[in-house]
Amino acid sequence: MDFELSAEQRLLRDTIRKFTDEHIRPVARELEAEGAYPEDIAARMRELGLFGLCVPEEYGGMAADMVSLAVVFEEISRGWMGVAGIIGSHSLSCWMIAKYGTEPQRARYLPELAAGTRRTGIALTEPGAGSDLQGIRTTARREGAGYLVNGQKTWITNARHADPLPVLVKTDPAARPAHAGMSVLLIEAGTPGFEVVRDLPKLGYRGPETCELVLDDVRVPADALLGGVEGRGLQQVLAALETGRINVAARAIGVAQEAFDQALRYAGEREAFGKKISEFQAVQLKLADMAMKLQAARLLVFWAAARADAGQRADLESGMAKVYASEVALACAIDSMQVHGGYGYSREFTVERLYRDAPLMVIGEGTNDILRTVIARSLTSGRGIIE
Ligand SMILES: Cc1cc2nc3c(=O)[nH]c(=O)nc-3n(C[C@H](O)[C@H](O)[C@H](O)COP(=O)(O)OP(=O)(O)OC[C@H]3O[C@@H](n4cnc5c(N)ncnc54)[C@H](O)[C@@H]3O)c2cc1C
Repeated sequence: MDFELSAEQRLLRDTIRKFTDEHIRPVARELEAEGAYPEDIAARMRELGLFGLCVPEEYGGMAADMVSLAVVFEEISRGWMGVAGIIGSHSLSCWMIAKYGTEPQRARYLPELAAGTRRTGIALTEPGAGSDLQGIRTTARREGAGYLVNGQKTWITNARHADPLPVLVKTDPAARPAHAGMSVLLIEAGTPGFEVVRDLPKLGYRGPETCELVLDDVRVPADALLGGVEGRGLQQVLAALETGRINVAARAIGVAQEAFDQALRYAGEREAFGKKISEFQAVQLKLADMAMKLQAARLLVFWAAARADAGQRADLESGMAKVYASEVALACAIDSMQVHGGYGYSREFTVERLYRDAPLMVIGEGTNDILRTVIARSLTSGRGIIE
């Protein structure tokens, strides 16, 4: 058992840490408060090749292993979790197009997606269906040489930048089970009838836009069908969401680490009753608890990522990592806020942003309760956690 990152992974971590310290931290509070899109940061991420994390090398990408992916998402999220969102669903969909796309689809999109000159996201959720994806109502009816798509999507991150946007639809709404009639269409920006209608106001996770979409008689060519075969859409997105869970879990580690670092620093500076507050046992217990939970969560994320890299099954593992790490992020944000006393509640201190950003990781990429049921189902069906 090896708990060390490889030399390459350490180099990547140091590069992203430096980038975060130099280009994200100094502007995060101001841009986040304004609700401004971090254009300059996105441009620098393009230069670093980060849009190509999940794109194979033959298409100009980095083809990063999952541990490296986790390292990148953790480091960026230490500076500002919202920035990680810019490459979050983008990476997930790059992975999905690389894995399931036809060769013409890969050749058409992946080189530009890797370069960041094209961007993407993923459109699954609808006003009436989030966890229950088989309950979506967006339909794609065969018409002539393509499809006629009608429906609505909501909570779609990166929607204004995505081109193409993979959209989960029902190509056969009558199919039973429903997933047998579900497909993914790669819909290009500017297609008539496909409109981003609203940016949703959010508690945190500011930076990338999260939007409502309307699809009104959108004509999509048949070759936009991911993989070229109908009825595989749900399986394609569920597989992609496994990589998404690693990235969300790693973002949670970044938030938790920053919450801990801020608490440790503040506890060593702030004085009360003639002592540093770090000398009070009540504060020490919080710091110790945060550090233990944080490191346990990080190891769980690396364990899940390493299994995926080894080609082993990692659905249960990535689910466990996402649930645990997101709850540790939430707990660390609250503990750090308490260590900061009244200043933890101030917009002038980072910890209030961590507190607003942390809940997203509990909700996104499958809510924690849904994932708990998936984990339990896996365990009760006889699959242990150690093989
Ligand atoms: C900031 C943000 C960004 C997002 N970005 C994207 C994106 O880019 N693309 C995208 O497609 N979606 C995105 N989402 C949507 C997100 O994936 C969904 O919100 C999430 O899957 C939950 O779906 P829902 O909101 O419809 O909640 P629901 O499914 O309605 O769930 C509501 C509650 O009921 C519980 N529940 C539901 N069913 C069960 C069950 N069977 N057993 C136990 N409990 C259950 C849930 O755990 C939850 O607590 C985003 C959401 C947010 C907040």
